[in-house]
Amino acid sequence: MMIYADNAATTRVSDTALAAMLPCFQEQYGNPSSLHSVGQRAAEILTAARETVAEVLNCSPKEIYFTSGGSEADNQAILSAALLGAKKGKKHIISTAFEHHAVLHTLQKLEKEGYEVELLPVGSTGTVTAEQVKAAIRPDTALVTIMYANNEIGSVLPIAEIGAVCKEAGVLFHTDAVQAAGHLHIDVKAQNIDMLSLSGHKFHGPKGVGVLYARLGVRLANLIEGGAQEKGKRAGTENIPAIAGMAAALKEAADHIDENAAKVSALRDKLIDGLLKIPHSALNGDPVNRLPGNVNFCFEGIEGESLLLLLDAKGICASSGSACTSGSLDPSHVLLAIGRPHEVAHGSLRLSLCEDNTEEEVDYILEETPKIVEYLRNMSPMWKDLIAGKRQFIL
Ligand SMILES: *Cc1c(COP(=O)(O)O)cnc(C)c1O
Repeated sequence: MMIYADNAATTRVSDTALAAMLPCFQEQYGNPSSLHSVGQRAAEILTAARETVAEVLNCSPKEIYFTSGGSEADNQAILSAALLGAKKGKKHIISTAFEHHAVLHTLQKLEKEGYEVELLPVGSTGTVTAEQVKAAIRPDTALVTIMYANNEIGSVLPIAEIGAVCKEAGVLFHTDAVQAAGHLHIDVKAQNIDMLSLSGHKFHGPKGVGVLYARLGVRLANLIEGGAQEKGKRAGTENIPAIAGMAAALKEAADHIDENAAKVSALRDKLIDGLLKIPHSALNGDPVNRLPGNVNFCFEGIEGESLLLLLDAKGICASSGSACTSGSLDPSHVLLAIGRPHEVAHGSLRLSLCEDNTEEEVDYILEETPKIVEYLRNMSPMWKDLIAGKRQFIL
């Protein structure tokens, strides 16, 4: 048995996406900038993909820029807004404490260059309100960048309300919608979004390709010099197979968004209810406003990494949600941001489901996880202290 429950990290390329990609390698392999017929066929694929993405987001194809993924789109959006702001003497940027590192590290870079970055607290359920954003906006605010849905704990933020507040204040609003795209409805007009990032591989498209939507009138910086591709903002021959695959995957996801959400959230809720029966465990993130596929737990007295390895040995692919960088085990900044103490944040588990997962798989996860948690607790010095009363239980 092999159960893939790490769809927030990446997804399997769908048959539809693969079918859209394959002809681009050996048949329609032209360069879209070439004037001959082979090139023009590739240009048609590019145009069609741009139209498809624009239709799903409810914008004009002129507002779609293809990128190498979500990280590039985030970097491009934030750096462009920062440059635009600086020209008007505006160097204040509002974001949240639990953004993806593609956002947080870009903001840290800007801080070193003299920008003032204000990270709003996200509370215990992992969200910010439009009122918080409104209160933080100042005359010198250049940008509000707030994610649509969190990649670790799955909480879904009130993007339309935040967009309305930003519009009223005349401040640019960017959202990292990488976890939302293909899973939650997006309408950049109705939601007053000026810039939005998404990534192909989070909704059954290929890796290494993404989209930055930028409303007409929002001037992007030239990220890569060298050619006229993507309106001169990002030179380089377009990755036609990946772009075609991503567009097909996005359309497929958008066409089935409600039925998939219903199916996946039922599996999610069954998994959450079952895991909550494990003593001294807690669900992370908002119980209601949550991505259909996201389950994230803390189990007191264990290390998330050991849990992952034992789950993997049982054929279950999951994630801890904690960033493990070069030997140092730092607990997840997201779990710390929602107020989980270090010792609890270390014992985290993220299971992220998609419409390919089944109820049998959920049953199997629910059968194996409690056994592994108990096994690890029986070996854990921290657990011994907890049950001996030498330490207080947090959960
Ligand atoms: C995956 C992810 C990214 C990065 O996307 P890539 O295409 O892998 O660069 C950015 N933001 C969020 C919220 C993500 O989940």
